[in-house]
Amino acid sequence: MAYELPPLPYDYAALEPVIDKQTMTLHHDMHHGAYVKNLNAAIEKHPELSSKSAEDLIRDLNAIPEDIRGAVRNNGGGHVNHTMFWKIMKPKGGGDPNGPVGDAIKKTFGNFKDFQTKFNDAGVKQFGSGWVWLAGKSGGDVQIISTPNQDNPITQGLFPIFGNDVWEHAYYLKYNNRRPEYLAAWWNVINWDEVNARFEAFKSGKSVQEPALAHR
Ligand code: MN
Repeated sequence: MAYELPPLPYDYAALEPVIDKQTMTLHHDMHHGAYVKNLNAAIEKHPELSSKSAEDLIRDLNAIPEDIRGAVRNNGGGHVNHTMFWKIMKPKGGGDPNGPVGDAIKKTFGNFKDFQTKFNDAGVKQFGSGWVWLAGKSGGDVQIISTPNQDNPITQGLFPIFGNDVWEHAYYLKYNNRRPEYLAAWWNVINWDEVNARFEAFKSGKSVQEPALAHR
């Protein structure tokens, strides 16, 4: 298989009480697992693509054969998004953003609280399933965007510094329909060290695709 489900970097229950064990188990094993399985099934039809990283696949969807383009968009995006998602969270995370990403947030949004409010608001307003992101623009500035389904900022030429999953499968068991409550609580598990590593990759200026972030 060309693409593999990465193991969770912590126990399924490690993010409680913010994210419950059952949600993490289903989300990682079943949802992310299915994206990987379906991406592999699509790529089997075009094995010449199997040497590409998942980021490379979704960076230029027009280069993907039409018969698997939708499958790669959804499942390649799902694989890239969730691989990031597990890593940018950790037990006992949270706090104010330190390091260069904290400086970039202050520069663009004034202060962390205002940034959080705008980020959460974008997450609440994303209709249906999707993601809310801090994305890097060419030139080095950052912005908040939301994307539908499993679309990733890479496809728009932006760098995904970090994102939060606002699909119902990410929060519904514990928070039911209360997405704003999930978005507010989620900041308590963010891993700012990992976010800073991604921010540094973005600032190194090699455009969106970074070998350091590439994975299979
Ligand atoms: Mn998800």
